[in-house]
This record gives sequence, C-alpha cells and structure tokens, in this order.
Amino acid sequence: MRNTSEDRVVMVTGGVSGIGLALVQGLLAKGWRVLAVDVQAGQIEAARQALAGASAGRLQFAQADVTDEARIEQVVADCEADFGPLHGLVHSAGIAAEVPALETEVAMFRRILDVNVTGAFITARAVARVMQPRGSGSIVLISSVSGMRGNYGRVAYGSSKSALLNMTRIMAVEWAHSGLRVNTVAPGPIDTPLTRKIHTQVTRDNWNRVVAMGRYGADHELVGPVCWLLDPDGSSYVTGQVIAVDGGFTAMGLPVPAA
Ligand code: NAD
Repeated sequence: MRNTSEDRVVMVTGGVSGIGLALVQGLLAKGWRVLAVDVQAGQIEAARQALAGASAGRLQFAQADVTDEARIEQVVADCEADFGPLHGLVHSAGIAAEVPALETEVAMFRRILDVNVTGAFITARAVARVMQPRGSGSIVLISSVSGMRGNYGRVAYGSSKSALLNMTRIMAVEWAHSGLRVNTVAPGPIDTPLTRKIHTQVTRDNWNRVVAMGRYGADHELVGPVCWLLDPDGSSYVTGQVIAVDGGFTAMGLPVPAA
C-alpha cells in the first residue's frame, strides 16, 4: 500500500533560508515529515524557533556541510533510524557569485563547483542508496536558469548549475529501474537572502527586462512544482526532466513592443 503524505519523510538541504525554507514550510503544510539540513547553525536555530508552531513534531534539523561525505551519510543514517524512511530529497543548498569570467579566481570557481555540484552528488547518492532497496523515491535538485543560458557574471555558478541538468538525467536513467525518479527545478530570479545580497539594482533591472512576467519570483512560488515532483501520485511517470520556474525567462524572445 502506498504511504500517505503524513508518513512520508523528505530531506531538504539548504532548508533554513530562502527557497529551501519556503519548501520546508510548504511541505509541512502538505503533511510531509521534513528533515531540514543546513551548514549554518545560527540559521538552523532561527528556523527552529520560527517553525516551532507549524511543525507539530514533523520537523527535524541537522547541521551538515553537503560537501562532507561522511557527515551527509551519517545524517541520512540517523534520519532512517530515528525519524523515518526517506521518500524524497530536495537539494536546495547552494552558493553563488556574480563575477565576470576574466575576474573569477580559480579558488572561487572550485568552491562553487564543490558546493553546488559535488554537494548535490554526495547528497543524492546517499539518499538514493537508502531509497533504492525500497523501490521508490523522488529526488529534486534545484538548478537555475543560469545553467540553461549564458548569463553574465556566472561562469562558475552557471557551469555548476548546468552540471546539475545532466547529473539529473544520468541519475534518472541509472535509477529508473529501482523506482527512483530524479528531476530538476530551475528557478529564475527569486527574491531570497541570496539575491538580496548579490544582486545590485542594475542586476535587478536587467532581470526585470528579460523575464517575460517582468518581476522576480517569490520563494513560495517554487512550492507547487517541487511538491508535485516529490508526489508519487502526481508525477509518477516523470523523471530526468528540467522544469524552469522562471516567469517566462527561458521562453523569452522578442518582447512586447513598448506602447
Ligand atoms: P539562500 O542563500 O537563501 O539559501 C541557501 C542555503 O544553502 C543557505 O541556508 C545556506 O546556509 C545553505 N548552504 C550553502 N552552502 C551549504 C553547504 N555547503 N552545506 C549545506 N548547506 C549549505 O539561497 P536561495 O536563493 O534560497 O537559493 C537556494 C537554491 O536555489 C540554491 O541552490 C540556488 O543556487 C538556487 N537558485 C536560487 C535562485 C534565486 O534567484 N534565489 C535562482 C536560481 C537558483
């Protein structure tokens, strides 16, 4: 018999800020049990307090760096033993920079690839290893439209997010016969602590010009698409796909003429 959402456990990395935090809230509201994983202890404490009323014992936190293979495997093992068997993963942990290619230091390039790509690999593999014997599970990686287009200033970030698109396809193919599905959501510009820190007014104006809807997305606008991809009843035949949640940025060509 299929589990109801009340029994389902999902791990959300980067789950105490921005998109990850909104997803934790959205998944709790839909009845999931949620393990939020993040590297920042202070942010974990803030989220713990903020969500205390909304979680009713269905939310746990773990401090971990997604690039730390041993720690992530421990977090997954602890979750399975103490919180419940994992049915899903949303990998939202990530870092970004807006620096032109000629000015990008190799150390920065390596760091962004390590967190965004190797971290996704470590986390997805750890979760897949425990879900595979049970024959079901859904993994959603958070990529970016910067992995789909040549966006200015994103040689490291865009390369890392591009890598997630093919990682998704490869894992989807390799794990399809085990009942695991792997998909990617690629957000456009979303108003979060990350973009509030990195995006200048010039960057914001630029985005608003090239997004068909002419605005940034809100973090909660990711909840519907991600929950649908996690839900075995909603998206059981969907795997290896990229869904852009981008206000029409990747569809955009010639804009509506100015009046
Ligand atoms: P955010 O900075 O608000 O949240 C990211 C979270 O990831 C933070 O809580 C941070 O502590 C955590 N994190 C960073 N490195 C980590 C590590 N090594 N181990 C564990 N946790 C780590 O950012 P956000 O805007 O919510 O972005 C979330 C994801 O969405 C990122 O992968 C980002 O690249 C992607 N994204 C964001 C936008 C946007 O416009 N905000 C657009 C496209 C894609």
